[in-house]
Amino acid sequence: MSLLVVGSVALDSVETPFGKADEVLGGSATYFSASASHQCPVQLVGVIGDDYPVERLEALRERGIDLAGLESAEGESFRWRGRYRHDLNSAETLETRLGVFSHFRPKLPDQFKSAQYVFLANIDPRLQLQVLEQVSKPKFVACDTMNFWIESRRGDLMELLKHVDLITLNDGEARQLTEQSNLVQAARWILAKGPKTVLIKKGEHGAFMFTKDEIFYAPAYPLEAVFDPTGAGDSFAGGFMGYLARTNDLSAANLRRAVVIGSAMGSFVVEAFSITRLLSVTRDDIDRRVSDFHRLVSFDQDMPS
Ligand code: AMP
Repeated sequence: MSLLVVGSVALDSVETPFGKADEVLGGSATYFSASASHQCPVQLVGVIGDDYPVERLEALRERGIDLAGLESAEGESFRWRGRYRHDLNSAETLETRLGVFSHFRPKLPDQFKSAQYVFLANIDPRLQLQVLEQVSKPKFVACDTMNFWIESRRGDLMELLKHVDLITLNDGEARQLTEQSNLVQAARWILAKGPKTVLIKKGEHGAFMFTKDEIFYAPAYPLEAVFDPTGAGDSFAGGFMGYLARTNDLSAANLRRAVVIGSAMGSFVVEAFSITRLLSVTRDDIDRRVSDFHRLVSFDQDMPS
């Protein structure tokens, strides 16, 4: 099934306790599509400025990502500068330069309009809504957001919630959006606004999936070394949505499997800067990590008598 993503295509400058990277390939749509491309073909909608090193995008094209919806506009590309200190769970944003994103109006190529699975990655919620208006009859729509948009575009975000099947956000963002400190209550609050599923990520502590009937939890893979957490959330979402689009099965059991695929992809991306690891990972690596997850959480419930 076709999977469409709209989001940022950025140049990131990142500092972690283990090193620095300047102006590397980043952005929510970039991480998402690199991750999802291990599951199914991906169509990307976004914008870059005339200063973007387009040759670096070849790596995405080679992974079967359709860039027909990536507009090149006059002006500066979107740039994000962030830092992680020893707590790798939270990024400190040092600078966000919207550049060409400030006057971007997404226009979907005709062949993208029939997408069945749609991911509205982290971007201005007004743009997320504009993309949704152009998709004819999607089967499953999910969105992401972040503190920047919760603060500056709350009204648009609340409108967006009415039109999506799932929202994914991290624990801090869930608390900020709902003004609830308890995450179960925060999830209930969001479920009442539209989405049937809420995925709350807790960095190295895993992710919770809430529906009205059940809660599912998947731990994060216990890696010995996390190098750069940037993009973990988007790569998680890419694995999750890619798996759903590939299997075209929205049953509760399959959504649980998708969460584990998402967790596996999140655990790969943090092993190196930018999308480097997402480009080198193989189907075998992914399968092995999913089996490791299975072992990690399996136990025998029967007590010896
Ligand atoms: P995450 O998966 O949450 O670590 O997302 C990291 C990516 O989000 C980085 O590559 C940034 O370029 C991108 N990003 C940061 N701030 C924003 C923003 N306000 N809008 C869209 N994308 C952003």
